[in-house]
Amino acid sequence: MRKEYLLTPGPTPVPPAALEAMARPIIHHRTSAYQKIFQEVTELLKYVFKTKNDVLTFTSSGTGAMEAAVVNLMSSQDKALVVRGGKFGERFEEICRAYGVETENIDVKWGEAVNPNLIAEALDKDEGISAVFTTLCETSTGVVNDIEAIAGIVKRHKAVLVVDAISGLAGDELETDRWGVDVVVGASQKGLMIPPGLAFISISKKAWKKVEEASLPRYYFDFSRTKKSLEKFNNPFTPATSLMVALRQVLRLIRNQGIDDLLANNKKLARGVRAAVKSLGLELLAPGSPANTVTAVKVPEEIDGLALVKILREKYGITIAGGQGSLKGKIFRIAHLGYITDFDLIAGISGLEMVLGELGYRFKLGAGVVAAEEIFSETA
Ligand SMILES: *Cc1c(COP(=O)(O)O)cnc(C)c1O
Repeated sequence: MRKEYLLTPGPTPVPPAALEAMARPIIHHRTSAYQKIFQEVTELLKYVFKTKNDVLTFTSSGTGAMEAAVVNLMSSQDKALVVRGGKFGERFEEICRAYGVETENIDVKWGEAVNPNLIAEALDKDEGISAVFTTLCETSTGVVNDIEAIAGIVKRHKAVLVVDAISGLAGDELETDRWGVDVVVGASQKGLMIPPGLAFISISKKAWKKVEEASLPRYYFDFSRTKKSLEKFNNPFTPATSLMVALRQVLRLIRNQGIDDLLANNKKLARGVRAAVKSLGLELLAPGSPANTVTAVKVPEEIDGLALVKILREKYGITIAGGQGSLKGKIFRIAHLGYITDFDLIAGISGLEMVLGELGYRFKLGAGVVAAEEIFSETA
């Protein structure tokens, strides 16, 4: 028997209250009992999104809501500005391309945040751009983008701002209304701590105008139809009822803790993990703008990065994420959001040290754990 530790930026561990809720008998979705749950969930989602805008829920993984943003906001003759600084930024471009929407891309070196001035320049140069697509936490690189600055720029143009906050929601700071973010995309299996299967999207008044004009084909992910059902706390199609009851439990936990307290805790966990890997002599992939959601660490030249992740999982039961795309084998990523706690991370860092030792990397055993403990034990 072995205890498993899930330290990945999605899926993340699920708190017992949510697991227990999912084990209860199935309820029917065309009932007042379900409507009550959906109402509470929607109100609490707005609290987490920090918005008064509509927040729609879809039964899909996060990518479904990314696609929903494209098909509800765009027409085939529209042009999109896409920030590509990692796997998920690239996904927006792929979706646009699949629907025949022309994109202009800002290519950012993987591991760096986008310079907001580049977005300002692109928008000034081409008033035909109708939407800007970017990412809060670029999960593939551990970068957090300056959404506040980007929103301040996009606000002055006719374009709407769409932010993929699938990992960043309840992970990194996000002020949807205060910053003026038109569309925010989230999903269930990251900071919201329940299994994969639900996606969320908030839509501003400015974005709703685009929805009315947009002509790309859509059916399942139609915003207008979904909003109409939401007015009665219904869904157009069968919702994932078991996930909804789990989500209600988690959102209550978040509400009780307070979203700002939760974000401050993530920040502390992130600082601890960064200090730990640095004290092991390892380098961060994104030292300039590291996310509080996930930390990406470069694998030393002499170490096999794929073996590191594999041994940690198979021998010690600790699952972290490797690198994606061009970073495969070159980095590993440790998540610190959702139901991942300080002591889970101490276990993760300890396991990491043991595997590094086994692979012949030279360092002072325990140095990472000590560095993390120093930060985790800080009071206020
Ligand atoms: C996980 C993730 C996605 C993909 O979400 P799925 O739920 O796998 O569809 C998209 N963007 C970011 C930033 C993510 O972290």
